[in-house]
Amino acid sequence: MLLPDSSSWQAAAACVGLSPSVVFARRAQQAAPALRACAACLVRRECEAAVAPAESFFDGVCAGRLWRNGRPVPESRTAKVMGPITAGGVRG
Ligand code: SF4
Repeated sequence: MLLPDSSSWQAAAACVGLSPSVVFARRAQQAAPALRACAACLVRRECEAAVAPAESFFDGVCAGRLWRNGRPVPESRTAKVMGPITAGGVRG
């Protein structure tokens, strides 16, 4: 998730280059590429701290979760679009 004023952690964001329509999607199917990026992202904590999704009533993907109106969408709804979990614990 890239914010307008770029910070150093954002250079390491795994979602760099994804369309805003993906990162700010409200539906799991559209958000799937961003959710997959999050799984390998090294700056999830920084992302969540900067976005503060609950406080900002955020819509989109942040820190490995899909948010709508600042509430995390249940994983049962996003897991379907993420694919199966492999032996290494990574969704493929
Ligand atoms: S945690 Fe997800 S949304 Fe946040 S910077 Fe990383 S890949 Fe992007």
